[in-house]
Amino acid sequence: MIREEAIIIGAGPCGLAAAIELQRIGIRPLIIEKSHLVHSISQYPTYMHFFSTPELLEIGDIPFTTPNDKPSRLEAMNYYRTAALRHELRINPYETVTRVVRENGRFTLTSTNRFGEPLTYSSRYVIIATGYFDHPNYLGIPGEELEKVTHFFREAHPYTGMEVAIIGGSNSAIDAALELERIGAKVTVIYRGEHYSSSIKPWVKPGFESKVAKGQIAMRFRSRVMSIDDRSVTLEDSEGKHTIANDFVLALTGFHPDRDFLTDTGVVMAEEGYPFFDEATMETNVPNLFLAGVVASRHEANEIFIETGRFHGRKIAAHIAQNTAADK
Ligand code: FAD
Ligand code: NAP
Repeated sequence: MIREEAIIIGAGPCGLAAAIELQRIGIRPLIIEKSHLVHSISQYPTYMHFFSTPELLEIGDIPFTTPNDKPSRLEAMNYYRTAALRHELRINPYETVTRVVRENGRFTLTSTNRFGEPLTYSSRYVIIATGYFDHPNYLGIPGEELEKVTHFFREAHPYTGMEVAIIGGSNSAIDAALELERIGAKVTVIYRGEHYSSSIKPWVKPGFESKVAKGQIAMRFRSRVMSIDDRSVTLEDSEGKHTIANDFVLALTGFHPDRDFLTDTGVVMAEEGYPFFDEATMETNVPNLFLAGVVASRHEANEIFIETGRFHGRKIAAHIAQNTAADK
């Protein structure tokens, strides 16, 4: 059994920020990451630019500078790697935490490293910062399991000349549609909403609307995909069912945190199905078990961003420091 004072699960921006804050109160936490540093960001669309300006993504007082208006995915990976190295964070990459149990006032964590070896830790504090990106919102429709369907868009190039249906009407869907249209894919966006989503980046929306007006992108509102076949997609709108030709489907329907992992550790879900935690301290109903980053999201996982989740660690550290002072 490896003994630690604090373990943070997940090396995303919010897990890293939490680690830096704990170091500032004299605790050197261990971060356990199932893949590599900022794994989610590395999986975002290759040429994506963040919607946040760089200073709103900063952690640990490390300046984030870029000559661009908004940082790219590559710049963000460079930035968070630099922040982790400068602060000499302790990170175990390629190790997955599978279980967290509280017993006798401490946590026992079980993990598996990249060689498939089991490891066990005992820790006084645990911070869950596992994000949501591993858990896309599935549609549960026939054909969703086909190889031509993906919930993660990376690059447009493979889709040149193809009939591509994009399901969803928020930023991932709109960005992908624009990128695909540019490389000569035939794009249909199938969106359940009545009109454009208010979450679309305001500087992107006019360009998209113009492509729709010119017939370069087909936009179908109030529409739901009912089934996906090898060569077609069947959707339903107020006029009935329609089957359209299709080669690939990008189901860009958002993400949700792994709530089973939370309930398995004893976190109580509020009636609405969201994890219970104290907003002032980020502590869950399980003493000394905290949430940091988008794993703490409530409504549809879009209320917490790096911009806000990067401060969760500060609340956690303040609470631990206060309790430690009270114990003395
Ligand atoms: P994540 O970055 O997802 O990190 C969680 C980490 O936990 C991952 O590395 C994962 O591998 C690891 N993990 C998961 N389970 C385990 C386990 N069992 N054991 C060990 N490790 C585990 N926000 C902004 O503020 N500005 C933006 O411009 C912006 N752009 C975005 C663009 C896209 C395409 C997306 C999807 C999101 C964007 N967001 C943005 C939202 C926010 O950036 C991300 O959700 C951010 O990654 C959240 O950080 P996090 O640390 O909470 O989680
Ligand atoms: P999202 O914002 O959660 O949007 C998901 C979309 O899919 C919404 O339009 C939603 O419809 C639709 N949808 C969800 N479930 C559905 C279902 N069962 N059937 C049909 N449609 C469904 O997801 P996202 O666009 O992937 O964005 C995720 C996060 O990444 C957000 O925080 C976003 O801001 C961020 N992001 C940022 C950038 C950037 O430029 N930095 C780029 C992409 C994404 P409704 O609109 O009706 O809810």
